[in-house]
Amino acid sequence: MNAPELSFGLHRTETLPIENSFASLPPAFYTRLLPTPISAPYLVGASARAAELIGLDPAEFGKTAFLEAFAGNRILPGSIPLAAVYSGHQFGVWAGQLGDGRAILLGDVPGTCGRMELQLKGSGLTPYSRMGDGRAVLRSSIREFLCSEAMAALGIPTSRALSVVGSDMTVMRETPETGAVATRMAPTFIRFGSFEHWASRDRKEELQTLADYVIDRFHPALRAAPNPYQALLQEATRRTAELIAQWQAVGFMHGVMNTDNMSILGMTIDYGPFGFMEAFDARHICNHSDQQGRYAYQMQPKIGQWNCFALAQALLPLIGDIDDAHSALEIYKPAFENRLDDLLHAKLGLRSKDPDDSTLINEMFSLLQANHTDFTLFFRHLGELKVDDPAGDAPVRDLFIDRLAFDAWAKQYRTRLRRENSIDAVRRMAMHAVNPKYVLRNYLAQTAIEKAQNKDFSEVAKLLSVLENPFEEQPENEKYADLPPDWANELEVSCSS
Ligand code: AMP
Ligand code: MG
Repeated sequence: MNAPELSFGLHRTETLPIENSFASLPPAFYTRLLPTPISAPYLVGASARAAELIGLDPAEFGKTAFLEAFAGNRILPGSIPLAAVYSGHQFGVWAGQLGDGRAILLGDVPGTCGRMELQLKGSGLTPYSRMGDGRAVLRSSIREFLCSEAMAALGIPTSRALSVVGSDMTVMRETPETGAVATRMAPTFIRFGSFEHWASRDRKEELQTLADYVIDRFHPALRAAPNPYQALLQEATRRTAELIAQWQAVGFMHGVMNTDNMSILGMTIDYGPFGFMEAFDARHICNHSDQQGRYAYQMQPKIGQWNCFALAQALLPLIGDIDDAHSALEIYKPAFENRLDDLLHAKLGLRSKDPDDSTLINEMFSLLQANHTDFTLFFRHLGELKVDDPAGDAPVRDLFIDRLAFDAWAKQYRTRLRRENSIDAVRRMAMHAVNPKYVLRNYLAQTAIEKAQNKDFSEVAKLLSVLENPFEEQPENEKYADLPPDWANELEVSCSS
């Protein structure tokens, strides 16, 4: 087979069948504008899996047409670039109008999982830039790129990342940094804050236009509900609750769960100062700017619910009756708890449910908390446990300072496993399929970033390939599963990006 046949059906950059459906909304929803070009763009990283979603040939990566398009230097035919307006609550306080201050929506492209919007991030000033410069630094762009693709591979709803394109432009943060433009993809980037924007202005007509757009495009079945806007609230609430259950189960902390960073489709969006739990501490705060710990690990479920209340408040004029809004919100707690319970059972390799399981699970969390055990390695090594042979416990047991406390818990766990006649080999496989070995630890991202800042992009590609298969044993990549080195204690991530 020759090369043209191999790429049959795949698009080149210029032939991407792009349109902009969001632009069919009235002009009040956005400002049409062009990205600000960057000089001498170069490829930092690109995801073949993301490209596949839009039928783009990965052979395009690094070609001039690709670089120009995803640097924001050249507009693809059919694209209608625009920045969307939204508002939101930041750290629990109403912040008023925000909007795409450094993001530009290019349009949407059909693909294997439905239409995907393509959005540039860091592509220059917009009317919503406020005090910002419209740019993003290479550091945060690489973090968003790797984490989006890592989360997708973990099976967690997320926006995707097609590419990061670098430039030698300097962007001022605490220090001068290299700038970059990331291209993200999602069915939509409409946020809770997009609705709060119109509700806060008493603009019911626009509010309804936006809600109708979301219902018609993403949830057509909700049209048949007695109150489609109540159904939309319930759907967004359920998805948000389930998303956060998935975050908790994998130890993901978003870091900035402001209402303007909450997707109406319940996917993870707007990666910034996120983190993965390492030494377990339920109070862990991954975002250095979050002094009060509003977005700490243990707060995420409550904050998710708080955000759904803010969405309910915004949708109230359409829903009509406050009791109907409240009843839609009621799904949050059971949706979150049931999903998390299912996920924790799976993480522990339990096939059945038992009324005493909550004790076993609570004691497990107390043990992790007291020992600051590495969250990822704990579950991964626990999969190796043998019901009848404690002699093989060393890998998981050695993660605990208080080994006797682990032994006591493991005894209960074994009793529970015996009760459902758990078979070691079967359970091991099931557990390894849900407990990742590889997650995007801050130190791994940092290593890739530092190399990329010196124009060596090999570690970005390497890390992407490791994180694309998080559940697989990758003997040659064992070190990517290691505990963080001492220098990682000094790492801080903040809202500055
Ligand atoms: P974030 O905390 O990244 O979700 O951003 C909150 C708001 O600030 C959004 O409206 C962003 O578009 C805007 N913003 C963040 N950084 C910048 C920047 N460097 N330039 C312009 N706007 C920004
Ligand atoms: Mg944001």
